[in-house]
Amino acid sequence: MAILISVLIFVGIVVGLARLLGESSVDISEDQSSMVKCIECNVYFPALEARKTSRGWICKDH
Ligand SMILES: [Zn+2]
Repeated sequence: MAILISVLIFVGIVVGLARLLGESSVDISEDQSSMVKCIECNVYFPALEARKTSRGWICKDH
């Protein structure tokens, strides 16, 4: 019985970690600090330094 409980706890930890990693990777893609590509000069830079237009992201140089 103790082995079964140990296995259940182990599986719970693995599933929990997988969910944490999955959610964190989603958060990174939606994070404002993620890299975006300027449609004018095709250079990647942090979204925080960018402006979003109807055509896409542009950097502060435009
Ligand atoms: Zn640019």
